[in-house]
Amino acid sequence: MNKSGRDLKQLIFYFLALFTILSTAGCLLQQYFTYSDLSLSENKYLYNQVSTTEEPPPTINESQSPPEPKNSNTTSGHSSKLSNNLTEPLQPTPKIRPRIAIIIDDMGFQKQIGHKLLDLPLNLTFSFLPYAPYTQKLEIIAYEKGRDILLHLPMEPHDKNWNPGPSALYLTTSRIKLTKTIDDYLELVPHAIGANNHMGSRFTENRRAMRNVLHILQQRGMFFIDSFTTAKTVGMSEAITMGIPTARRNVFLDNVHTRKNICHQLEELIALAKKDGTAIGIGHPNPATLSALTQCGKQLLNEVELVSAHELIGKPIVTARHMAP
Ligand SMILES: [Zn+2]
Repeated sequence: MNKSGRDLKQLIFYFLALFTILSTAGCLLQQYFTYSDLSLSENKYLYNQVSTTEEPPPTINESQSPPEPKNSNTTSGHSSKLSNNLTEPLQPTPKIRPRIAIIIDDMGFQKQIGHKLLDLPLNLTFSFLPYAPYTQKLEIIAYEKGRDILLHLPMEPHDKNWNPGPSALYLTTSRIKLTKTIDDYLELVPHAIGANNHMGSRFTENRRAMRNVLHILQQRGMFFIDSFTTAKTVGMSEAITMGIPTARRNVFLDNVHTRKNICHQLEELIALAKKDGTAIGIGHPNPATLSALTQCGKQLLNEVELVSAHELIGKPIVTARHMAP
């Protein structure tokens, strides 16, 4: 081979060697940048994981997953966990708000305030006294507005100076008379789906008497809410024994008729619901209660869910008339 032939061969050799070196370097650089990008996406993902709790993580294509490091058990475990998380979008945990029911007792005597309470955009429950002069008119309005209606059962108190009203239930009332009286009440409050006691500190302490009344309510598909006018009441415990949907009053809202006091009682009611999950307050148709519910009630009730009585105790709506024998 002459000199020019050898030169050409050397030139080709150098060219191939240079090409091989450049190709190898190119591959290495490509691998380096690819790995860097994936590391970056992992870091971005981890950043999202720790900084964002309200949005689900972004969906990442499997082919973009970073390679598993070979010799690190801890990192490997982390990576495996990460991989699982990638395929399972995080769901926001539903927040369960405390629930309260507010019953307005003694409905039927106060025409104007009764109307105003019924007009409030609040899911109040209304308990009507059967023989009050405006009961029937207001009861229809409450029904048309879709509010829960209770029969406010007038019952014997301990103090003889307190008059529970005409045709009230006494310990001396016979079983037959109890049935007749309650059915008469329901003629006057026909859309009642449950009942609570008006006064009744003496009556509700008597197990036999309460069992009789609860049995009559049970036959008519009604639930019972114990107004808890005495600490010795057996109303709720008997209802539980008999399998009747029941609950008790926790807070009287308006024993003192000032807006400030009633707002404070509403705060108490809400604090109790936050502690126990549910709570029941009882108020009455008077100007201070109306004012408190209008002024501070709406704001306070942002913290809880105001539900009707039947929703609170989980009872489907059945009116007494549906169940009457
Ligand atoms: Zn009452």
